Formats: sequence, structure tokens, C-alpha cells
Amino acid sequence: MCGICGVVGLRHATPIVFDGLRRLEYRGYDSAGIATLVDGKIDRRRAAGKLDNLGALLETSPLPGTTGIGHTRWATHGAPTTCNAHPHGTERVAIVHNGIIENFEALRRELEAAGQVFQTETDSETIAQLVDYHLAQGLAPKDAALKALQRLEGAYAIAMIFAEHEGLMIGACHSAPLAVGYGDNEMFLGSDSLALAPLTRRISYMEDGDCVVLTPAGVEFMTFDGTPVRRAEQTTALAAGAIGKDGYRHYMEKELHEHPLVIGQTLQRMIDPANRKVVLPDMPFDLATVPRAVITACGSAFYAGMVGRYWLESIARLPVDIDVASELRYRDPPLAHGSLGLLISQSGETADTLAALRTLRQNAVHILSVLNVEHSTMARESALVLGTVAGPEISVASTKAFTAQLTVLACLTIAIARARGALDPLGEEELVAALLDLPSRAADVFA
Ligand code: GLU
Repeated sequence: MCGICGVVGLRHATPIVFDGLRRLEYRGYDSAGIATLVDGKIDRRRAAGKLDNLGALLETSPLPGTTGIGHTRWATHGAPTTCNAHPHGTERVAIVHNGIIENFEALRRELEAAGQVFQTETDSETIAQLVDYHLAQGLAPKDAALKALQRLEGAYAIAMIFAEHEGLMIGACHSAPLAVGYGDNEMFLGSDSLALAPLTRRISYMEDGDCVVLTPAGVEFMTFDGTPVRRAEQTTALAAGAIGKDGYRHYMEKELHEHPLVIGQTLQRMIDPANRKVVLPDMPFDLATVPRAVITACGSAFYAGMVGRYWLESIARLPVDIDVASELRYRDPPLAHGSLGLLISQSGETADTLAALRTLRQNAVHILSVLNVEHSTMARESALVLGTVAGPEISVASTKAFTAQLTVLACLTIAIARARGALDPLGEEELVAALLDLPSRAADVFA
């Protein structure tokens, strides 16, 4: 999923948004764009290809203004062209969107019949046209946005700005992450805390079905029917430095060298070194009596799960099924009541793994998630989270996050094996001693 960055404040918005998009580059994208308010009117610059293309365009054709939104697109509907690049909009509103609007065809037909004129092939433009339609009917920006949000189906994170409304930005999300950042006389929206890291460490994570109205003075959260809600402000541990390359040539090299630290930090959470025992947080269910486990994940996390299956079956003697998360729903497996659902995700936002989590939960499966981002949507919906302490992983090829997942799965295997009587205290001591040796062995490999 690609990136959103937005700001309302007193400073020039474009450089802030552009730098935010740079920090989101790691997610992959095929085009990019920024829209701001210039003398109350919406203006935008968009370019296919790398952010450098957008940067070059902004050099020759600067975009002033203090209210701005930007986007890196990963096309799902419509070719990766400049015309289909976000922000989309009309004279009244500009939007950026991550995700997919599932009912866009029906909405588009309805809006075209009502006289709205579309310019792109994207599903996302439907949002802009729907909001525009309500603005044209005389609704204020917040009301027009809420009315539009009530019609959207699918997964989305959205940021919007409105002509003649300096210092106003509206955000919304459903099954896609969006974070609000608090500054001094300025407020930010970002796809994740990395996008906002150098700007502020004061962040609120939006929840599914949240809308937020931002002005330089503050924020107002509400549900799509306008009911006010509160979202806690948190301080992220993320320092701007955590996302630099630290002298390495590229992020993957840096992240490989972080292995000893990451394994050590992750073990520290789960091991009592003095007694050579695994100590997990209190379980909301009994590990001794789960009849079987279902592991599900996507990509590299799925590979970690495949290793976990070997360990759980051979050491803990627990029968394990494993599915790629995108398949689990469609396979519709018969699930033994009270089974253990073991979900693995770096971000905790992987859409297919989240959907699998919800399917498992509906089937009375106990949900235990292994996540790197412990304030993510999956974390909120799990009975228990075991955290990997891998820090941000910018490289698309997973390295330290994968190893940290294995570290957690190893500790969990020991705990389950002990609970099921498959491992005696001496056996546990031996395995824990081997795990405690891991950080220094990793250091030897990288030395
Ligand atoms: N579905 C939208 C598009 O194709 C947004 C894709 C994205 O998340 O970048 O434009």
C-alpha cells in the first residue's frame, strides 16, 4: 500500500509533504503528486515515475501554499500515468487515497448520471466527485465529506483539502492505516509514523471508520455519522535517526547489521535469563488445551510461519495447519473450537492477514498475533500480541523483521511445549541457552 502525507499550518506545505513522500518511498509506487491551496484555489503537480520527476516539476513550476496533501500511488485501477496520479479533484476539492473503493463503478455511474464529469480511470476519483457533488449541493466540507464516506465500500485511507478553506484538511480511514501528527500550530496526516517521524513524535492512530477534521489549532475525531470520538495521543519511540542509513550504502545492508541487536531485544521480552525459562505475558486462554493451531500470514511472514510449523509440530507436538492469508477465507476450513490462530505480520496492517484474523475470530479461534507494530489494527483485534522489537524495516526485502518473527516463534514453541508437557525443564533450559547465544552468533556472522 502506498503513501499519504498532508499538512495544515503556517509553513510552506510542499517541501514538508514532499519530504514525507520520500520517507514513504520504501512502500513502492509508480507515480506521485501534491495539491495545495494557492490563494484559496486548488493547484496540483503530478508526475508518473519516480519522486525525482515530481521534484523536477516542482523546481520549474513551484507550488506555494500552507495547506497541502501528497501521495505516492501504486496503481490498482487505471494505468500508472500522470493523469491517473493523485491528488484527484475538482475546483472544490482535492483528495488522495490509499486502497480500493470496491463499489466505485456503481457510484461512478450514479454520479455521471447526476452530471459529474470524470477525468481519470481510477476508483479514487469517485471519492472526489462524490464529495464535490455534495459541496455543489451547498453542504459544508465536513458534512459533504461525511456524507460521501457513508457511501464508500472497500479499504481506504483518504486526505482531502477544500477550495476557499485555508487551514482545513479532512482525513478518514477504513481497513487502511492513517496517523494524525500534532505540531505547534500545524497538524499532519501520514500513512504511518515514519512519514511523520521528523515532524513530530506526538501521534494518534486512527481507527476503522474514523473521520478527522484538522486545522492548525487542533483536531476533531468523529465516526462517519458525525458522532465525536476520542483518540489517544501517543508519543512514538521513533526517532528521525531511526530511518537514516547510518553510514551504510543502503537500508538492507543497515538492517542486516541490526540482527544481533534485534534478536537480543526481542529475546529480552520473552526470556528470563537467570532461570533459563521462557516467560510470556499472561495468556487469555490456556496453551495446554488448544487442540491445534492455524498459522496464517503473507509474504516473508508466511515463510516464518512455515518454520514455526516445523517447531510447533516437532517440539511442542501440536498439530498445525498453515495458510497463505489471502487463501484462508476462500478455503473455508472447518476450525476446531478453541484452536490457536497464529497470525504474523510486520506492519499489523497486511490487508489479507487482517481479513483472515477476522474470519478466525468469528470461528471462536483464539487470536495470537506476532507483530512488529504493536499499535496496529491487527494488534487491536488480537487477544494477545507478541511483539518483535525489530524497529522500522525500510528495505522491501525483509531481513531483521523476519528473523525477529522466528525469534518470537521459537519462544512461543517452547512455552507451548512446556504447557503441553512435551518439554521438561532441562529441555527448556537447553533450548533457552541456545537462543540466548543467538545475538552473539549473529554478530560473528556479520563481523
Ligand atoms: N486504487 C487507487 C488507484 O489505483 C489507489 C491505489 C493506491 O493505494 O495507491 O489510484
